[in-house]
Amino acid sequence: MTSIAPGATIGILGGGQLGRMLAVAAAQLGYRTHIYAPEVSGPAADVSPLWTRGAYDDAAALAAFATSVDVVTYEFENVDPAAVEVLAGHGLVRPNARALSIAQDRLAEKRFVCDLGGMTAPFAPVESLDDLEAAVETIGSRAILKTNRMGYDGKGQARLSEPGDAVGAWNAIGRQSAILEGFVTFAEEFSVILVRGTDGDVRFWDSAANVHVDGILSTSIVPAGALIEGQITAARAMARKIADALDYVGVLTCEFFANAEGPVFNEMAPRVHNSGHWTIEGALTSQFENHVRAICGLPLGDTGLAARRVEMRNLIGEQVNEWLAILSDPANHLHLYGKAEARPGRKMGHVTRLIL
Ligand code: AMP
Repeated sequence: MTSIAPGATIGILGGGQLGRMLAVAAAQLGYRTHIYAPEVSGPAADVSPLWTRGAYDDAAALAAFATSVDVVTYEFENVDPAAVEVLAGHGLVRPNARALSIAQDRLAEKRFVCDLGGMTAPFAPVESLDDLEAAVETIGSRAILKTNRMGYDGKGQARLSEPGDAVGAWNAIGRQSAILEGFVTFAEEFSVILVRGTDGDVRFWDSAANVHVDGILSTSIVPAGALIEGQITAARAMARKIADALDYVGVLTCEFFANAEGPVFNEMAPRVHNSGHWTIEGALTSQFENHVRAICGLPLGDTGLAARRVEMRNLIGEQVNEWLAILSDPANHLHLYGKAEARPGRKMGHVTRLIL
């Protein structure tokens, strides 16, 4: 196994909070990071020594970036796959372009998981209002219309509850390539986060029970409770199958609904994930450190728990102002992302509480 030795430079596409936490983990292991992002600056700028401002479709700038770093990774998946192909032509990209292109297309993702034997919500591709009306006939009108691409934190989605909702939903998502999903009745949501090394070694973190508010992750709690725990073996087997099929290197997150029939796959993210922020203090090795280890071809760290119970809460919008009260409880670990403006719905930081 050839590894990229400490002292090398890790290129990261995207300069948000995930890039920031990756850069901190990389620095601890003796690596430098170089961010490539279209913005002038961002949360990762405070901790990454190098930043190139560039568009994700600027092939020349991406090629120059790729040749200036030892490995390229990304902190968000809505990068044009063509851009990733450009990068791959000039150096190592981990996770690979195939993982990215499947994960950023809801239809491709669901088909891929079904082909591997996974359970998903019933779904149908939608390219027009006619398609949508036909899909409502087969799937039922209790459904969610989601844009195929560029959706995150519940954006690009419209809920339907009766057939007459089709026109409004189609307009609401901007009449673009989409997928109609049947509404899944579930008691709880959870994620499986794994890391896969260059040698195929796979490790899982404990699964957190995730609670979303307005489509945005609110809390992640470990242990996840009996219902989810009863489904973890099956969900992990599915996540491992996905990672092996993609010859995946790095951290992979798969989100599931805990439904009466077993775990229903919802979506995956080919990267570190908000539902794994608790691993910074709550696990022996964080998702960020193990992602760096994996993409550099190093042995992976222990993913075991560091506490009996771990609670992660996102600080959304004005909740960031609670920092003093949060710090007055010594069990809390505060992470602020350095964002100046606390807009509603914006992830400003998170707090992790350990119960030892
Ligand atoms: P997503 O962007 O796919 O993660 O969706 C955001 C949230 O909407 C999920 O975390 C669920 O709470 C809910 N959701 C998404 N898809 C479905 C579905 N097919 N059935 C029920 N709830 C869903």
